[in-house]
Amino acid sequence: VEQYLARIQEHQHLNVFTEVYADEARQQADAVDQKLASGTAGRLAGMVIGIKDVLNYAGHEVKAGSQILENFTAQFTATAVQRLIDEDVVIIGRQNCDEFAMGSSNENSAYGPVRNAADTSRVPGGSSGGSAVAVQAGLCLASIGSDTGGSVRQPAAFCGVVGLKPTYGRVSRWGLIAYASSFDCIGPIANTPEDAALLLEIMAGPDEFDSTVSTQPVAAYTTATLPDRPLRIAYLRDGVESEGVDETIREATQRQLDTLKAAGHVVEPVDMSLLTYLLPTYYILTTAESSSNLSRFDGVRYGYRSRGNGTSTMDLLTLYKKSRTEGFGPEVRRRILLGTFALSASYYDAYYTKAQQVRQLIRQETERLFTQYDFLVSPTTPTPAFRLGEKIDDPLQMYLTDIFTVQANVIGYPAISIPNGTDPSGLPIGFQIMAPPFAEGSLVALARKMM
Ligand code: GLN
Repeated sequence: VEQYLARIQEHQHLNVFTEVYADEARQQADAVDQKLASGTAGRLAGMVIGIKDVLNYAGHEVKAGSQILENFTAQFTATAVQRLIDEDVVIIGRQNCDEFAMGSSNENSAYGPVRNAADTSRVPGGSSGGSAVAVQAGLCLASIGSDTGGSVRQPAAFCGVVGLKPTYGRVSRWGLIAYASSFDCIGPIANTPEDAALLLEIMAGPDEFDSTVSTQPVAAYTTATLPDRPLRIAYLRDGVESEGVDETIREATQRQLDTLKAAGHVVEPVDMSLLTYLLPTYYILTTAESSSNLSRFDGVRYGYRSRGNGTSTMDLLTLYKKSRTEGFGPEVRRRILLGTFALSASYYDAYYTKAQQVRQLIRQETERLFTQYDFLVSPTTPTPAFRLGEKIDDPLQMYLTDIFTVQANVIGYPAISIPNGTDPSGLPIGFQIMAPPFAEGSLVALARKMM
């Protein structure tokens, strides 16, 4: 703990932690020491982690990177976090992220951007940017982030670490501040697939507070193995052929495919006919869900309330409008507007219903693919980490960085991003593996083999 606290101090310029629980972490470490001495320590004894600022941790502030949660303290602890605490993890602090987990660069945070430790002029990815850099820079052993469209995997790829998004419903969302409820997944970011597997194994499983969580038994992901036969691996042709993907990333991906082939596996290209519909489907549905989820932040029940002009009183509607306009940042406001539009009476069928139908088609196409293959692989991102400010004024360019990650969320499948070397300037590259629902064990097993 002391070592990590010192490193956090030395790396303040990266803007990773929005709060450091120094004294509390020391106390937790002392308590773990005693348990170790008496032989009663849990499975995570000695593991020092950080948690993304969207996870409720009783008695601690939680802000979702937003001003609208000014002075808000969590009233209870997220199930996933509580399970880690029960196994004697040490929580060293709360990590910076994009506001309400909306973003791909961590530039949409009320706390200011996080910087990539490989090159501080570059973004760390998002929305779990702080959580990824924390592991990259050795400020804690692992982090717990959330992934709605890539927010664990994309920053892991940009920072050269491992990010694991489980199957939808594998981990309880109770206590996770909602972005898009039918997409949101809590997932670990770590140095190795083993660490990610251990954290997932402990966080996963039924929870009476989340009705969408699966009752499927949790497998021992840490010791899972691959079937004793050649694997059937599909890769997205676009990932190694499309002009839209950086050349160094295409080459790095091809090298991994060659290695898999050389090891005797069946490695074949596939085209997703619905690839171009992934991002529109994702962004229509997530903005719709988020506009509904974020309606609870009204300036009355939680956090920030507009003071108006300080002289006259406001009627209720003005109070709502002013509190939300002042409390939410520009990207969150954009998404609330888009989502409200997609859900409005005249456009509901044209956008929301249509997107739900396309979601179903994407699910069917992917299911068909997985009747022939064990895994679907691709680069995690089309480019390495871009410069701070480079895409912030161009939301469409920003959304395009999610092209390879959103599919897993649209259909609820598990996926992992593992490091795949660097480009010539030393920027990390990620390799993504996707597996069928609840196949996290083989996902982790393949990731271990490839790292
Ligand atoms: N970048 C995507 C978005 O902005 C994904 C975010 C996430 O997974 N939370 O929606």
